[in-house]
Amino acid sequence: MPTRLVFRCEFCRREATGDAERSLVAQLQDLRAGEYSDADDWLVWHGRGIWGPTRYACAEHRIALRDEIRKHYGTLGWHPHARVLGDVPPVVRQQMAEQAPKRRLTARQRRLMRARQAGAGGPSFI
Ligand SMILES: [Zn+2]
Repeated sequence: MPTRLVFRCEFCRREATGDAERSLVAQLQDLRAGEYSDADDWLVWHGRGIWGPTRYACAEHRIALRDEIRKHYGTLGWHPHARVLGDVPPVVRQQMAEQAPKRRLTARQRRLMRARQAGAGGPSFI
């Protein structure tokens, strides 16, 4: 008898389809704990242990899931407060990264870089 997994957003009960569904299935054997991850445009909270169950939210409810996790587990460490994945959808994050100004090197980093390029035998760390 064929079976299939059904992933639903815990806020609107919408089913994951297409790339999101494939990504969620691929993450099933992931043993992360207390960590967010993306599954296409869905957000997954990998709970386990003190972090509670694994929870899923569609693109529209990513922020609601993040807020819920922070409300319930926010006093248990930094994990629920991780900004990177919970705040914005991956597409928006990619656009922000493309528009962000490049980080400037410090004077010390530039000096070390020049020394390394010149082969002056400077330290090999920054
Ligand atoms: Zn939803």
